[in-house]
Amino acid sequence: MARTRFAPSPTGYLHIGGVRTALFCWLFSRHHRGQFLLRIDDTDQERNVAAALAPILHGLRWLGIDWDEGPEVGGPHEPYFQSERKARHQEAARALLQRGVAYRDYARPEELAAERAEAEREKRPYLYSRRWKASTDAEARAFEAEGRTAVVRLAMPREGHLRLQDLVRGEVSFPWSNEQDHVIQRADGSCLYHLASVVDDHDFGITHVIRAEEHLSNTPRQVFLAQGLGYALPAYAHLPYVAEPGSKQKLSKRKLDRYLKNKDFAAVHEHGQGIARALGLATAAETFNPVIVDFYEQVGYLPEALVNYLLLLGWSLDGHTEYLSREEMVEHFSLERVHPGPASFDPKKLHAFQLHYMQRLTLDERAARTLPYLLRAGLAREDTASVRAQLRRVVEVLGDRLKVFGDIVGYPEYFDDDYHHKKHDEAAFAKRLGTPEDRARLGRLREHLAGGTDFDAASIERCLQAFVEAEGIALGDVIHGVRLAVTGATTGPGLYDCLAVVGREKTLQRIDRVLGGERASPLAV
Ligand code: GLU
Repeated sequence: MARTRFAPSPTGYLHIGGVRTALFCWLFSRHHRGQFLLRIDDTDQERNVAAALAPILHGLRWLGIDWDEGPEVGGPHEPYFQSERKARHQEAARALLQRGVAYRDYARPEELAAERAEAEREKRPYLYSRRWKASTDAEARAFEAEGRTAVVRLAMPREGHLRLQDLVRGEVSFPWSNEQDHVIQRADGSCLYHLASVVDDHDFGITHVIRAEEHLSNTPRQVFLAQGLGYALPAYAHLPYVAEPGSKQKLSKRKLDRYLKNKDFAAVHEHGQGIARALGLATAAETFNPVIVDFYEQVGYLPEALVNYLLLLGWSLDGHTEYLSREEMVEHFSLERVHPGPASFDPKKLHAFQLHYMQRLTLDERAARTLPYLLRAGLAREDTASVRAQLRRVVEVLGDRLKVFGDIVGYPEYFDDDYHHKKHDEAAFAKRLGTPEDRARLGRLREHLAGGTDFDAASIERCLQAFVEAEGIALGDVIHGVRLAVTGATTGPGLYDCLAVVGREKTLQRIDRVLGGERASPLAV
């Protein structure tokens, strides 16, 4: 039974790189019909863990990365929070001391610093002399009589190599001489992370430790710890890190300013910001950042698009298949197909995935999932049948213009009679409706639009054709002005669709307002 785990620290956000690790762990366990656990590495946590964990759990759920054991769902190995497992970690530290794999060390920090400095002076690698190691209780008491306190250190091997088969990187080899006698328990009795991690993985029955590459260098001490405790080793797989756009450096939450110099990244960010502002969301860099999963949910991406994109950040089926359903991902996932090199986060590609998944939704699904954004933006006061019907029409005519659900905020003119307070382009008005002739023509067109019975796109088209023929003008002479008068916008879906969706009554009212001297801007009224 394959059991994997994702072990985040409660940081208050879910990072693209972190969630990619979670996804790979999840896929591996699902592929092998095993289990996926969530362990919370909160040993160094001073903040409110529950608050800092909430966005992580929420993000995983949003992406459909469900866990079989862990916070909120419980499980047979509770607790899943490291901070609540201290007694277990201390017990393991005692066992390591008893087995002679670890020792009590009474060195003072300045004594260690002096040894280190001496090694540096002599240009040799530093290795602790173990001078203040207590081998017996009598030695310990003697050190204590000098006012010293002890930490527990691992008695690391100093010769030979550790060779391991990493499931992503193949054989990896580490000289033991590179390892210091790592501390596993502090003088105050608290245990350090590596001990906690090894003990918890063992207690939880983790068979495959799949994690970020930066933990590769921690593996020798963890293997030594596990063997010292008599545990069977899990298999290890170290995933290459996710790199920043256009470079091989590790993607970081803190380099937003730098990433904004990348035009694709900046475009995704700016697009999101526009939506967030209309929705009244906070856009501070700490939380509103395309490196953080929450960004995509807030703006209205599809989780399936993000999941599919994340899969391809370091994995591929055959080098060309891009779109996989969740079932296909589970069916085909394997660690052998993980690329050992870093994969760059490419916001443009993510956007293309988004469009692909958006296009696969039915019109009804797209409209239903857009509704919360419409309401949140205040473009409809409540969820009524007529709001839904109008939204469905709008979503239909917008087509691919609706790239993410939040894009609906860019089309107030279809919902809101105060649309002209939101969209206004004085220069466009001057250009298209600036002269008495332009306005007189719009007035004559208004009369055409007022006649007839139907007001669907086809009838409107016929009406405009007849109008331009009668006037002896080209379509281009009139369509821009009428679009501006009715929607306030210079671009948008096809004009006939636009007018049909706005409806005859509002179309005529809006033309009248413009002709009555009310320009699009409240400032100009
Ligand atoms: N808490 C560690 C991290 O967030 C997990 C380390 C591991 O997976 O072993 O990177």
